[in-house]
Order: sequence, then structure tokens, then C-alpha cells
Amino acid sequence: MNDDQLLRYSRHILLPELGVEGQEKLLAAHALIIGAGGLGSPAALYLASAGVGRITLADGDTVDLTNLQRQILHASASVGRPKAVSGRDALARLNPEVRVTALEERLDPARLDALVGDATVVLDCSDNFATRHAVNRACVRHRRPLVSGAAVRFDGQISVFDLRLDASPCYACLFPEDAEPEEMRCAVMGVFAPVTGIVGTMQAAEALKLLAGVGETLCGRLLLLDALRMEWRSIRLKRDPACGVCGYR
Ligand SMILES: [Zn+2]
Repeated sequence: MNDDQLLRYSRHILLPELGVEGQEKLLAAHALIIGAGGLGSPAALYLASAGVGRITLADGDTVDLTNLQRQILHASASVGRPKAVSGRDALARLNPEVRVTALEERLDPARLDALVGDATVVLDCSDNFATRHAVNRACVRHRRPLVSGAAVRFDGQISVFDLRLDASPCYACLFPEDAEPEEMRCAVMGVFAPVTGIVGTMQAAEALKLLAGVGETLCGRLLLLDALRMEWRSIRLKRDPACGVCGYR
């Protein structure tokens, strides 16, 4: 690290759990963020400010006026621009040292597979089950840690599937691929803006912990937020030996 980096990241370096060694792990890491919306916005901002060396930001949508209430990566002037590009520009303003790749595409399974293989940590900030399952499959295959978040109405949820570990459940252990649960889209159901901020910020925290190898992650636990009462519930998750995705491991 040069002198500027030692200053920029000094409040991390002061933490005994991180120190120079931990910060260097962040600088050497590559985070793949799927979705530059309500969850991806705070997640990307914190990963960039914290000095994750490479960030790939994937989103096939353009910024819409209805996004600005919660998608804090984008400003009014970005309406109509691709979210991935608007996000890349915002991250560059925040921390020009971070190498950000903007992917203006909805990733199909083959593309996801290649991208996940190249990432150190994956953040699922998408808003639909098809993408979530495709991301999970790629993470299981490449044994990459997956930080999964969701937010709708006043409800949030977050978990970590650390697929580097044999005992870790995967996303499909929790939500089997054939279950076809009802999609809960913010576009239809509404979403309380800060809930996406809370969950996305926690996704960043878990990703940074995974990258630096500090503390205990949410692997094996699902946290559920009820923001109307501001209450959290924690549910234990176990790997399902009969899971259609990770069961063969
Ligand atoms: Zn599984």
C-alpha cells in the first residue's frame, strides 16, 4: 500500500481484526455484484469505499425515475442510463482506485458461470428467483461464497452461503428450485426505502468479513427483518442432503 492508501484505509487498518493484512486482502479481492438496484447500491458503495480492488457490477436495466427513492447509487441525472454504467461512474467518483467493470446485461447461466469462477465473493442483489437460482448454481459449482439479500415492503432477509465449506447449505437448500414461490417484486408490492439500505449494507459487511477472513458470517443462519416493528429473527439453516443443486457434493 502507498501512503495515500494507508491514509484512506487507516480506520480499517486500526482495527486489530483487519490491520494491514486484512486491508490487503480486500485490495486483492474481486467482488461480483448481481444487480445495481436497491440492494446493490449500498453494497457496491461500501465495497468500493472499503477498497475492494475489483468490482464487477451487472445489471441489464436502465435507471427509472421510480428507482431513485431507494437506489442510492443513481441520481436524477442518470435516469435513462444503464444502471451498471451509472453505478460504475458513481463508484469511480467515490474511489477511483477501484477497478469497476460494468456489465449492461441480464446474465444467462453460462455467462454467470464464467463470471462467478473469476470472483472471490458474490453478492446476489437481484430481484427474481430465476437469477437467484442461476447465481446459486454457479456459486455451488465454483465453491464461491454467496451473500444473498432480499427486500420487499417492510421485510428484509439476508444469509450467507459459504460454499467453500462442506457443511454450508446453498440457496436451493432453503428455497428449492422447483418450489416456484410467488415473486414479490418491489414494482408491485412497494418497498420501504431504508430496508434495501439496511440489507444491502449488511451484505457489504458480510462480504468484507468473508474476504478478510474475520469474525463469523451468517453462514447457516437466515436473518429476517420486520422493519415495521424493527425486529430481527434468526433462523438456523442446515444443508439439505437431498438438495437438487448441492446434494451431489
Ligand atoms: Zn443445496
